[in-house]
Amino acid sequence: MASQEIETLAGALSRLPGLGPRSARRAVLWLIKRRETALPALIDALDALSQRLTECEVCGNVDTASPCAICADPRRDARQICVVEEVADLWALDRARLFTGRYHVLGGRLSALDGVAPEDLAIAPLLSRVEGGGVDEVVLAMNATLEGQTTAHYIAERLENMPVRVTQLAHGLPVGGELDYLDEGTLAQALRARRPVA
Ligand code: ZN
Repeated sequence: MASQEIETLAGALSRLPGLGPRSARRAVLWLIKRRETALPALIDALDALSQRLTECEVCGNVDTASPCAICADPRRDARQICVVEEVADLWALDRARLFTGRYHVLGGRLSALDGVAPEDLAIAPLLSRVEGGGVDEVVLAMNATLEGQTTAHYIAERLENMPVRVTQLAHGLPVGGELDYLDEGTLAQALRARRPVA
């Protein structure tokens, strides 16, 4: 029978995505064996995460500063905004190193089933960014799921009467494909072949 401390940590880790109770316990044992080497680094990293991370007030990215490094980078083209569902999608696209504009994180996708309405997502701030001017193109980079595409259509409609080009990632993304799981070549290709929203 494990101590209360071990159970508490294993319980917390088991709630992480991709970690069940078994692998959480294994991770705890791994850390215990390396409490002199791996544990201090993990404690420091978690501490830094909790102390310093913030959400970018412009795009919703998670970074140590707001505006984030991408929004603050003068080499990134402010005339292009790539709209993604989650921060993980932003990171995935940015790893593909093809998009040189800026991003906008919605914080989810429209879903009647889960009761997610437009006002639950950062859609109004996106419209404000476009209304603020200086934006030529909005790239809709939603996941190729039903909910992702519903979200893309909704946003395209809201942008219809604004003086901005609205494009979306090329099909060829696997149906049901989540950006975060795609390799960088596939993502880069989908971005390169992006097309106007019909
Ligand atoms: Zn930002």
